[in-house]
Amino acid sequence: MTQHVRRTKIVATIGPASSSPEGIAALIAAGMDGARLNMSHGTHDDHRTVARRVREAETASGRPIALIADLQGPKLRVGDLAAPIMLARNSSVVIAGEDAAQADDIPVSPAVLGTVLRVGNDVLIDDGHIKLRVDAVERGRARCTVMVAGLVSSHKGVNLPGVPLPIPSITRKDLDDLEFALELGVDFVALSFVRSASDVRALRTLIEARDSTARVIAKIEKAEAIAALDEILAESDAVMVARGDLGVEIGTADVPLLQKKIIIRALERGRPVITATQMLESMIHQTEPTRAEASDVANAILDGTSAIMLSGETAVGEYPVEAIEVMNRIACAVEPSLNYRHEIPHAADAPTIGQAMSNAACDIAEALEATAILVPTFTGRTASGVARLRPRRPIIAITHQAHSLRHMALEWGVTPVEIAETDDVEDLWDRALAAARASGIINAGDRVVITAGTAVNIPGSTNVIKVDIA
Ligand code: PEP
Repeated sequence: MTQHVRRTKIVATIGPASSSPEGIAALIAAGMDGARLNMSHGTHDDHRTVARRVREAETASGRPIALIADLQGPKLRVGDLAAPIMLARNSSVVIAGEDAAQADDIPVSPAVLGTVLRVGNDVLIDDGHIKLRVDAVERGRARCTVMVAGLVSSHKGVNLPGVPLPIPSITRKDLDDLEFALELGVDFVALSFVRSASDVRALRTLIEARDSTARVIAKIEKAEAIAALDEILAESDAVMVARGDLGVEIGTADVPLLQKKIIIRALERGRPVITATQMLESMIHQTEPTRAEASDVANAILDGTSAIMLSGETAVGEYPVEAIEVMNRIACAVEPSLNYRHEIPHAADAPTIGQAMSNAACDIAEALEATAILVPTFTGRTASGVARLRPRRPIIAITHQAHSLRHMALEWGVTPVEIAETDDVEDLWDRALAAARASGIINAGDRVVITAGTAVNIPGSTNVIKVDIA
């Protein structure tokens, strides 16, 4: 029996616990498909070193790895404190924009607090571990009662659930980080705290102005983003269920159903979706996950997520490689029970030729029990169109475009394989079969279904389905 090819992709955040050359190589060997550089932490020099090491380890492994730069976005943070401040329950404290803060106040930047806060608003600090309620606002300073106690230290995140913030979605720091990330040649740029489709458009415009092929991931973590989900999906190349801030902004109890809703909508649109945060949190200090964490990873996969992501587990945890191995094992255990999203496209819904072809290719592969679906592709879009149907057969996507290979590293069920460029369609079929055999997923003599365009190298020209023997 051939080995199960894992369909769900694994993204790992690189940090001090995993950034050595050996550490990164070990993450790739364990199954990492995407490496995330979190621009909220570390210096540009740190990230440059990590990016170089990822590319070196990628070349050594022979497997495309997606490099993701995650921009901090319009996040409020506690400013510089001389020393951490202990806030006792029911005590009173003043929180203020940095420009208006007086001695003993908690300063927050950017300096917008004084103009947006109203009596009764909640102020959450450090991922919601500390909670204040606003009693009075005067001249840019808000007096609050401490509802949930805790220690506040410099630069901790501040969330104001439900309070619209008059600050740009792409901050000066983001512009600087974006410029740097595009120079590194990242494959994806993730934007935090997306509020509207125009936030995504603005980021794309900046990326295109730099002639970069980087794709945009919209992080869904605010109520405004949930309200505008369809418009945001239409503008994005991928989305992330950023459960950390989503839980702080909307409430932990609502996260599970929102996760399902975001995943389903992303699937319907054919956009990859990454489920993130606290998936294996206990593995920061332990070699085994809790049963609840194992179930959480399994359920995200059953929901249909394209990728699952590790944050602290791989960035600062004691067992980064083990965390990836656990995700890999859970995915391989769960995936055989996933359902194929069979669809019959109706003319009334005006499917594209690509959508109709993808559906037919998956049906034929199912009916003939083909070993794999082969997709020669220029941009990766055809592979994406097949992946959204979650076929039971592995998808082998074949391209000569280095950036498309890396984009497809995050695509559910897709094994990206490189071939030399050709503009002859017969040659393309032969190269695709040879590359698929070399991938080890199919053997000579296996039956496969190929879907591609006869107008080779023209994006969006898929018009043929071919049943072949490898
Ligand atoms: C999140 O909030 O869940 C998330 C992924 O974003 P970050 O790790 O940047 O806080």
